[in-house]
Amino acid sequence: MNRHSSMLGLFSCLALGLAAAAPVRAEPAGRYLVRDVAVIPLDSDQTLAHRDVLIEDGRIRRIAPTAPRSRVNAATVIDGRGKFLLPGFVDAHVHLATEGAIADSKNPMIKGLDLGAGHDYDRHVMLSLLKAGVTGAANLGGSVGSDDDLLRLRGEIDAGRMPGPKLYVGKLINGPRAAVAVKPDGQPVPASRPEAPTTAADGIAAVQRAKQRGYDFIKPYQFLNRDTYLAVIEEARRQGYITTGHLPELGCASCADRAFAFAHPLNNIAHSEELARYARIGTDLAPADIEALAQAVAASGASVTPTLVTLKTIVAMYVQREVPAVPAGWLDTVDPVTRIDWASPANRYLSQAFRDQEGADTFSAGYDFARVLTRALFKRGVPLTIGTDAALPGLAFGVSVRQEMIELREVGLKPLDVLRAASLNAHRLFDPQAGSGAAREGERANLVLLDADPLADIQNVAKVAGVFAQGRWWSIAEIDRQLAKGQAFERGLQRQIEQRKAATTN
Ligand SMILES: [Zn+2]
Repeated sequence: MNRHSSMLGLFSCLALGLAAAAPVRAEPAGRYLVRDVAVIPLDSDQTLAHRDVLIEDGRIRRIAPTAPRSRVNAATVIDGRGKFLLPGFVDAHVHLATEGAIADSKNPMIKGLDLGAGHDYDRHVMLSLLKAGVTGAANLGGSVGSDDDLLRLRGEIDAGRMPGPKLYVGKLINGPRAAVAVKPDGQPVPASRPEAPTTAADGIAAVQRAKQRGYDFIKPYQFLNRDTYLAVIEEARRQGYITTGHLPELGCASCADRAFAFAHPLNNIAHSEELARYARIGTDLAPADIEALAQAVAASGASVTPTLVTLKTIVAMYVQREVPAVPAGWLDTVDPVTRIDWASPANRYLSQAFRDQEGADTFSAGYDFARVLTRALFKRGVPLTIGTDAALPGLAFGVSVRQEMIELREVGLKPLDVLRAASLNAHRLFDPQAGSGAAREGERANLVLLDADPLADIQNVAKVAGVFAQGRWWSIAEIDRQLAKGQAFERGLQRQIEQRKAATTN
């Protein structure tokens, strides 16, 4: 028997125990005791009341009935009374704003902004995620510089040098649109290359390069032709990668067809809208197709990230001609560069070209379709994950995860199922080797502490008291303090942007 396996050995070391609750602050690595908390493991429907939870070296070491005088040597004690501890949330579809993306930007308002050397910009984005209880984020593709930034950030976060969620960095692999154009527009198809493959060989090379660069997963995209799409999916599997992305285009000579797409499934479909695309006849949706689609997805074994809040937000921009308000208290977290992307002329969803495109009048029906489809998928047992496409205009990092959780609640999922979609299902998708992701002994300590029971009311996910991100504790007070510390940097960025605006209007 392991000598630490008895509760006594761990919980009754009174001699050097802490006399009172230590101040809560982030520590580079640590040992924490959350005392007298209700644990919601999420892998069953039970809540474990009055537990002492020991977190050490990034893992949940012990969950035991609370003992009134329990102490652990050198542990930070967190008062869990009246609080709920559960697996942290994961944004399974996000495009993180990064310093690398700013460096790569073609927008003259953004390119070349002075970001200093302290990585304040990236830190701000990461803290925004933690603030919402988000302890995992899967990036579904960005510019080369942005991906480089994220691969670096992932290591900084893992090492405790940067606050933030566990990052999963995806490599987007897409072919040139002209290669699968349904209506040939006379454009020649560019020669195949790994950066935009139209051959199986280049598709395979693209996956192998992603492996060498250290990406975490592959995002196949819809303009890959049939043979290249298949090659990417099969090579990804050979390399031990999961795939989450778009379904292939239909309707051209080198395109996949529906049966092919489901016979060679992605591990996860990155939008419910992808399936809506498969239920379109011209620009019209065929709602009668919903059950058949749900059946096909269930049979393929894929999970789905509905991104309902994304569609809702796009429909709102189309109809209202403005960016919908972010939830109260969150506008301050939207950084000045992201605000440029949200406003005209950078925001393409507010552009006339977007309004003029064929089928624009069916966007609203598409949202309705996606909601009904999402419910059908859930009823057939298809695992759902929470994704937002933030920072798409109107969707702020972190809080948008909460908005999507409400969307799933609104299509009929119970809070327990919403919380599973927000945590366990994503964990199973992106980190299948790292345990179940439940709040259980031995699991990695990616956890959120809430001030109220989310099973009683899903809105209680807004009441974040703090998070454990890979075993490091961040109280909400500390997260807010760190965000406030970054405000001078944000104001400096804003001043630079205003100077540029003034220079272009003069
Ligand atoms: Zn996306």
